[in-house]
Amino acid sequence: MNKKNCHKFKKKKLAGDEHYRNVCQLCGYIDYGSPQVVAGSIVTYKNKFLLCKRGIHPGYGLWTLPSGFVEKNESVEMGAMREAKEEACIKIKIKNIFGVYSIKKRNIIQIIFLSRILSSFCKPGIESLDVKLFKYSEIPWKKLAFPSVKWALKRFKDYKNGKKLPFLGND
Ligand SMILES: [Zn+2]
Repeated sequence: MNKKNCHKFKKKKLAGDEHYRNVCQLCGYIDYGSPQVVAGSIVTYKNKFLLCKRGIHPGYGLWTLPSGFVEKNESVEMGAMREAKEEACIKIKIKNIFGVYSIKKRNIIQIIFLSRILSSFCKPGIESLDVKLFKYSEIPWKKLAFPSVKWALKRFKDYKNGKKLPFLGND
């Protein structure tokens, strides 16, 4: 049995495991509390960068790369493509892994790809207030939604200056 929300957790130490885990007393489900995976892209089009103005919290009204939580049974690439479609109504082609970031405080692992737009047409998706292509010099650094957006866009310059992909870590 594994009904949604059936869980009644109790801390237990399992055989062969060094840590206490939240184990459901009803169905036996173990909540490891592992990080969730977020997939997204730096999307470029003719030396411009696609950013979405968030229409949802957190970061409402601030600019972000198209990204979001990977869904059940989805690959990270599929997740990144789906998010680009949902947030900016665009089809993208993934070219490379750009960086992998661990956001320990939020218990998230973020995988950022380097992608390009296949269709030049873009418009705000349901979660966005606006979508825009920015030249690097026009990026609204003070109005970016998350530190990871800033890390990735800053590192794009290193990449253009010949540093190799992928960029790992944010420590
Ligand atoms: Zn349960």
